[in-house]
Formats: sequence, C-alpha cells, structure tokens
Amino acid sequence: MSEQFVPEVLAPAGGLDKLKVAVLYGASAVYVGGQKFGLRTAADNFTLDELTEGVCFAHAHGSKVYVVLNSFLHDKDLSELPEFVAHLEAIKVDAVIVSDLGVVQTVRDLSTIPIHVSTQASTLNVEAAKLWKKMGATRIVLGREVSIKEAGIIKRQAGVEVELFIHGSMCMAYSGNCVISNFTQGRDSNRGGCAHSCRFEYSLDMGLDTEEKKKAFFMSSKDLEGLRVLPEFIKEEIDSLKIEGRMKSHLYAGTMSKVYSEALKYYAQNGNFLSDDLVSWEAELSKVSHRSYTKASLVEKADATSIFNERENSNENEWQMLGTVVEANAKAGIVIEVRNAFNQGDLLEIVPFLGPAILINANEIVDLLMRPLTRTKPTTLVRLPYREGVLAQHLIRQKVH
Ligand code: SF4
Repeated sequence: MSEQFVPEVLAPAGGLDKLKVAVLYGASAVYVGGQKFGLRTAADNFTLDELTEGVCFAHAHGSKVYVVLNSFLHDKDLSELPEFVAHLEAIKVDAVIVSDLGVVQTVRDLSTIPIHVSTQASTLNVEAAKLWKKMGATRIVLGREVSIKEAGIIKRQAGVEVELFIHGSMCMAYSGNCVISNFTQGRDSNRGGCAHSCRFEYSLDMGLDTEEKKKAFFMSSKDLEGLRVLPEFIKEEIDSLKIEGRMKSHLYAGTMSKVYSEALKYYAQNGNFLSDDLVSWEAELSKVSHRSYTKASLVEKADATSIFNERENSNENEWQMLGTVVEANAKAGIVIEVRNAFNQGDLLEIVPFLGPAILINANEIVDLLMRPLTRTKPTTLVRLPYREGVLAQHLIRQKVH
C-alpha cells in the first residue's frame, strides 16, 4: 500500500498549560495568541516568556506553534507590531496567522516567518488563494463555508497548503465580516471583542402566531464535528485539520487532540475505520461540553438543520475535569492537583495520552501527610493508590449528570 497522507491536527491553546495538554495528547500543531493582535482578548493569551516556553516545549515534542495576528488593525495598532514580529522570529514560531493586509506586509518586510491566511479573510475560491500565495502566504485557512471537496480543488489549483476547520463552535456569518456584536453589544467581532451575539435568543415578528414561536435562537449554529468525514479530508489531502476553541477548557484541548490524532493514526495504519472505533471516539467527543453537532458545510451546504434550537437537551451528558495527575508511580501513588472537588467512592476516569480511559474508584483518598479524606478541595494535592498506566500530566474527569 502506498504511504497514506496524514493531515496535521491543529489544536487551540488559550494558555501555556493548554498548549502542553494539547501537545501531550497528540496535536501536531497548536495555535496561540499573544497579548495583542489576536481575536480572543478574553483568553488567557501568552506573555512573551510564555510564548518562548511554549515554542520550546512544542518543538521538543515534535509539534509546531502558530501565532495568531488575525485582528484587523488601525495604524496606531500596526506601529506596535514590528517589535512583536521580531520576537516571534527570534523564538522560531512556525507561522503566523494573519488576515489584515497591513499585517501581511509588516511580517513579510521584517521576517521570514511563514504566513498563514486566517479564516477571517473568508477565502472561498482558487483565484483568491492564488492571490494570497502571490502575496507570500504559504497556507490558507479556508472559510467555514468551503466543503472538503472544494478545499481539495483550491489546494491543487492554487498550489498552496490548505487548512479547514473540523471541529468546534461556528460563526453563522462569513468570518471577518460579522458586525452583529459591534452593533448589539458595542464589541468589535473583528478586533477580538465578539460577544457571540448570534447565540442569543431573539424575537422574530413575521406573522408567527404564538409567543413561543416568536422567540428563537435562530442564528445560533450547532457545533462542527467532522470525525466521520475524516476519510474525505485525507482523500483530498487537506494539510491541516483545525479545531476551534482557544477559550475552551484543558479537557477540551486534550480530548480533541487525542481523538483526532488517534483516529488519523488508526486510519493511516488501516486505510479505513471500523464502526466500533468510531463509536468510541464519538463517545469521547460527547464527553466535552458542546452544542449538538453538525457537519455544517463540510459535505453539503449548511442549512436550517445546522441551527441549534434545542436548549433543553444540552446538559444530558456533562463531564467535568477534576484535576491533573502531577506524579504517578508505585512509591508516590497517584498525586492529583484537584481542580473540582470529588468524594470518597466516586468513579473517576483518567484520560491517557493514548487508548481508552482508565477507571478508578476513589475509595482511598489521602492528603500529602497520608491523612484520609472523604472529600477533596479544589487547588489541593491529594493521593490515590497507584494504578499502572497512569502518568503525570494525565487529565481526570467525572460524569456530572
Ligand atoms: S456574533 Fe456570532 S457570527 Fe458574529 S463573529 Fe461572533 S460568533 Fe461569529
């Protein structure tokens, strides 16, 4: 069999801890934001020192780091960019993700950092991709309105790398062109302030006859999930599979990185998926907080079935992260940094970097002085008896409902 093309799994990292989680759980690349110039002003974002540490950590594990510079800038913002670009070049980031032409020009003039065109530029066709390539882009993050097939055509005809979203929250508007948040909340979607106004409940007065019908979340999209169309991504040789969510949790960053990288490895080795594996990966995806899933425009154009209007069903399968393993061996046992309290007797799931969850009944919990506990407290360290297979940095989760 000829060697199978394997796309990159590109995970979000809203902070240094999340970067490490994503890399350890298999992401081949992560995207991160600095303190300025990105679109997630409410994420933790990276200081210069954290960026340096993050790049070193990722490179040591064979993963890449892309830095978002995808806000649209005014001249006064642009004047602060050269210093930041110089720092990014010095620490050897693998690319910057850009949407503003002024930023493209600045990065080209001052560095040799590869340029990826952000989805904010809403690139949907071959000619636009060719133009971006002429301007120095090495990769295009295509608009979410592009199908996998169209993405393959753009890649081949424009001769440029392409990246397509495979998972996460969606915009209902063309990215980079939405101003609902600006007008309803005074927060600029295209400069890092999106208030997710499309997710709100709105009243619709179009001759509908009941109050109930008038109120709806009619602009709120379901979340994207492309696991079952992975073979299409591979067939079209889409270079990078992007997971949305720099604002999302450690458990999200770890689970998404693990599921998609495991699934890709499996497909690369076997040339197909078995339905049992798909069911278990889907079960993993369902253990992370999400809206109902849709394939949006990956295969067919998104339509009314992609709208999430079923709020009452949203909490059926909720899991929470209990903490992180900080040490695990026969002598120390499993030492856990607790994030959310749990009780003696609770069933915990340790999420390994590879393979199925390790189930543990927390029957014997002690603190670091070996005093028995019946309930843990957030931000403390506790110890459980050792279990083979558990490693430092593994995440721990528990079903809430
Ligand atoms: S309001 Fe909604 S559609 Fe507009 S940018 Fe924000 S998330 Fe996207």
